[in-house]
Amino acid sequence: MSERRNVLITGASRGIGAAAARLFAQKGWGVGIGCHTARDRAQELAQQLRQLGVPVQVYPCDVARQEEVQAMTAAFLRDFGTLDVLVCNAGIARQELFTDITQASWREMLGVNLDGVFYCCQAALPGMIHRKQGKIITLSSMWGQVGGSCEVAYSAAKAGVIGLTKALAQEVGPSGITVNCVAPGVIETEMNSQLSPQTKAELAEETPLQRLGTPEDVAQTIWFLASPAGDFFTGQVLAPNGGWVI
Ligand code: NAP
Repeated sequence: MSERRNVLITGASRGIGAAAARLFAQKGWGVGIGCHTARDRAQELAQQLRQLGVPVQVYPCDVARQEEVQAMTAAFLRDFGTLDVLVCNAGIARQELFTDITQASWREMLGVNLDGVFYCCQAALPGMIHRKQGKIITLSSMWGQVGGSCEVAYSAAKAGVIGLTKALAQEVGPSGITVNCVAPGVIETEMNSQLSPQTKAELAEETPLQRLGTPEDVAQTIWFLASPAGDFFTGQVLAPNGGWVI
């Protein structure tokens, strides 16, 4: 019997992260569910996934705080032994006019969306380098590729995630580690819950495939990169966006 593989997914209490956690558990992987404020929700998901017969643990952690990320990673390694795949999925979005962005808002957007990825990768890498294997999957956005109006801080952070991914892939490739990025289009999650039904319909209409994405669409892309099918990909940006940005 082959050894069980383990994934740590930040921001997995809901949305894309939760869909990815579900998919990895269905594939028989041990799953670490990272969460921030929604501990009860993360525990409920963990209970459901344990029914599939795989080990699942919850790790509350603010990814913008390096010491919390280090503690989460250490706890995961104690619980699971090895970290095969890290999915840096935790993120926040906020729509504001560029001229209204305060220093605090800018710091928060960059802190969670970009610093968080830096802290998670740095905490995970020593173990991966030691084993000469591992995969890191980061979450950007199509706004990180082309820029989104009234989302300058978010776009800047997500563009930074793409740069981090490409550079880190070059640096750790010789150590047998891949680093890839998933840059979704508009996905039906709570991140977009403030959008009116009319705005969502307009966004769907602007999308060549004429619909918004689902968390499962993105989870399948993450899974592809984590699976053996993705072994020869590194430094790449895969974009489940319905054809919006090509
Ligand atoms: P979501 O439904 O809003 O969920 C966000 C997740 O991130 C939650 O689990 C939340 O944890 C966690 N989180 C937020 N702040 C955190 C922090 N400081 N530390 C740790 N975890 C934190 O978001 P989503 O739509 O699934 O998005 C997932 C990722 O995809 C994000 O990086 C997002 O930018 C990216 N993305 C989303 C879309 C989209 O249209 N939805 C498009 C492109 C890219 P708690 O619930 O525990 O607080």
